Amino acid sequence: MSRLESFIRRMTAQRDILDLVCAEVANIEGPVLELGLGNGRTFHHLRERLPGRRIVAFDRALAAHSSSIPEAENLVLGEIRETASRFIGIDAALVHADIGTGYEDCDAVTSTWLPDLTARLLRVGGIAVSGTPLDHPQLQRLPTPPSVPADRYFICRRV
Ligand code: SAM
Repeated sequence: MSRLESFIRRMTAQRDILDLVCAEVANIEGPVLELGLGNGRTFHHLRERLPGRRIVAFDRALAAHSSSIPEAENLVLGEIRETASRFIGIDAALVHADIGTGYEDCDAVTSTWLPDLTARLLRVGGIAVSGTPLDHPQLQRLPTPPSVPADRYFICRRV
């Protein structure tokens, strides 16, 4: 598969998963945490799907399109491992983590801290969506939509 095809599949998977979980998150109280603002495309999508919901976005640096920049109080810059730890206990309804690199060694390091951090950020019953696996005893894996290739994207519920 070419990188273009792989990219299209990833974007389609992201959209389908976010649409699926937003229908449920609409009924769960709490903010949304966007780990990895990047260009802001998924932030923009979440903002459309969950109007009025507080969305706090995290990244090392601001590189988002001007249409997709959160309010200053909801933009947190720095290393997510450190910055998001300050939000432990916020009882998020949704954590969306799109910080995979496609490099196995880098993503393996992320997998050592992201699952535990995600579990601590979520309220019980809250949902996590991630491009890297979230193996953790408090995160129960949920099925992905049929359009999502196996092990491409992960959905979990905080138990
Ligand atoms: N979902 C975004 C979108 O739709 O535009 C794209 C996110 S992009 C793939 C990943 C972003 O996460 C990058 O902007 C990168 O700087 C950020 N990132 C990755 N790991 C990070 C970390 N450990 N701390 C802070 N930012 C990180």
